[in-house]
Amino acid sequence: MRYVSTRGQAPVLGFDDVLLAGLARDGGLYVPEAWPQFSPAEWRAMRGLSYPDLATRVMLPFVEGALDEATFAPLVRGAYASFDHAAVTPLKQLDGGLWLMELFHGPTLAFKDVALQLLGRLFDHVLTRRGERVTIVGATSGDTGSAAIEACRDRAAIDIVILHPRGRTSDIQRRQMTTVLSPNVHNVALEGTFDDCQDLVKAMFNDAAFRDAHRLSAVNSINWARIMAQIVYYAHAALSLGAPDRPVSFCVPTGNFGNVYAAYAARAMGLPIERLVVATNTNDILARFFASGAMEAAPVVPTISPSMDIQVSSNFERVLFDLLDRDGAAVTESLTRFRSTGRFAVAEAQLGRARAIFTGHRTDEEMTRATIAATLQMAGELVDPHTAVGIAAARAAGALGTPLVVLATAHPAKFPDAVEAAAGIRPGLPARLSDLHSREERMTVLPNDLAAVQAFVHARSRAALQGAALQGSALGAPLGMGGAA
Ligand SMILES: *Cc1c(COP(=O)(O)O)cnc(C)c1O
Repeated sequence: MRYVSTRGQAPVLGFDDVLLAGLARDGGLYVPEAWPQFSPAEWRAMRGLSYPDLATRVMLPFVEGALDEATFAPLVRGAYASFDHAAVTPLKQLDGGLWLMELFHGPTLAFKDVALQLLGRLFDHVLTRRGERVTIVGATSGDTGSAAIEACRDRAAIDIVILHPRGRTSDIQRRQMTTVLSPNVHNVALEGTFDDCQDLVKAMFNDAAFRDAHRLSAVNSINWARIMAQIVYYAHAALSLGAPDRPVSFCVPTGNFGNVYAAYAARAMGLPIERLVVATNTNDILARFFASGAMEAAPVVPTISPSMDIQVSSNFERVLFDLLDRDGAAVTESLTRFRSTGRFAVAEAQLGRARAIFTGHRTDEEMTRATIAATLQMAGELVDPHTAVGIAAARAAGALGTPLVVLATAHPAKFPDAVEAAAGIRPGLPARLSDLHSREERMTVLPNDLAAVQAFVHARSRAALQGAALQGSALGAPLGMGGAA
C-alpha cells in the first residue's frame, strides 16, 4: 500500500514510513492512494471472527509491503489481549434500533487505547527492525496522556516523556500516568498550565538540533495507523448487525474527527454504512460546517466532555481531500485561507456530497447532563459525558431506517464528578484499576523553563545516546514532527 499526502507535495510513502512520520513533510496528512475493497462475499466470510482475527484481516491491505501476516497478526493479538472484555468492543442494545458500542475496555478506559495499543507495538517493531530509537514527547491536560503512556510503556525502542500541569489534572487522570513505573516512562509535573506544557513541547520540536539529536516523535491523532486501527470496530459492529446484507449507521462523539473518519474509511472499503452522525458539544464547528458548508473557527469553550473541546478538527482535512477530488493544491488553498482568516467554505455540490454521508448535531451542557440522567433511568446504563453527547445526537437524528450505533468513547469512571453531578451515582473504577489510589506514583516536578525540560529529556533519551554514537550516519535524518497526544 502506498500513501499520498492531502497537500500533494510530500513524497509518496509506504506504511512504515507513514507510521513513523505522522505528519507529511508538506504539512498534509497521509491517506491511502486507493481504498482497499472487500466484496460482500468477503465481508460475509468475516462474520464471527474474533476481534483480533477480524482486525488482522481488515488491516492487512494497509500494511502490505511493510508487514506480512505472520509478523502483523501477533502484534494485533498482543494489542487486544490488553482489553478486559472478550469482545474487545462489545455492543449493547439501548432500545429498539439504538445500540452502544463500548470502546473503553482498554487499559486507560477510553477509546484511544484501541488504536494506541496497536500503534505502540507497531512503532516498536518497525524501529527495532531498523535499529532505531525515538523519544516520544507530549503534553496533556489529563485526559489523553495516559493512553500514550500505556501504549509506549516497556517498549525497547521508545522513551516517552509526558508533561502535565502540576495540580491541574484530576486525581484519577494523574494517577493513570504516574503509577506507570516502567523505566522508559517519564512523567513531568510542570509548574504551569496546560498551555505552558504545550508551548514547551512545541518549542522542543521547533529546536531542530534538539529534535534531531533526540529523535523526537509523537503518537498524535493524525497518525494514519491510528485511523487504520479504528476502522476495525466499525466493521466488527456492522457485521454483527447484519452487514453486508443490512445497512447500519453510526453516531460518533467527535473532536479531532479521527474516530468518525475511520467510519468513513470503513464505508469506502465496501461496508454498507448509511449515515454518520457527527456529535459535537458546544464547540460545534463541525455541526455548523455540515449545516452551512463553511468552516468557521470560534474560541474553545471548556465543557464536561473535554476530549471534544476543539477549535479545529485536524482529521477533517482527509475528508476535505476527497470532497475536493483529491486535489492537494485546492486543499492547501482552503487551509491557508482558514489559517489566515479563520474561515473557508466548500461549494454547494461538495457540501451536498458531504451531507449525503454526514449529519452534524450539537448538544449543550444541560442536555448532556439530562441525557446522562435519562439513559440511567430508561436503559439502566451509566454513561460518560462524551458518550452522552453521542446519545443525545442519536435521539435527535430520529429514525434512519437502519440500526444506529452510538460510540461509547470513555468509561464513566473516567469522569466521575460530571457523571455524579448529572446522575446522582458515583461510577466505580473497573477491577483492573480498583487499587489505583493506593499504587506508588513517580513523577518529576519541573519549573516552566525550556532549558530545564530539555535537560530532563536529554538525560532520559536513549535515542540521544544512540545518536551520539552514530553521528554522521544516515540515521540522523529527522522524523516528522507531531502535535498533541
Ligand atoms: C479523543 C476523544 C474523543 C474525540 O475523538 P476524535 O477522534 O478526536 O474525534 C471523544 N471522546 C473521548 C472520550 C475521547 O478521548
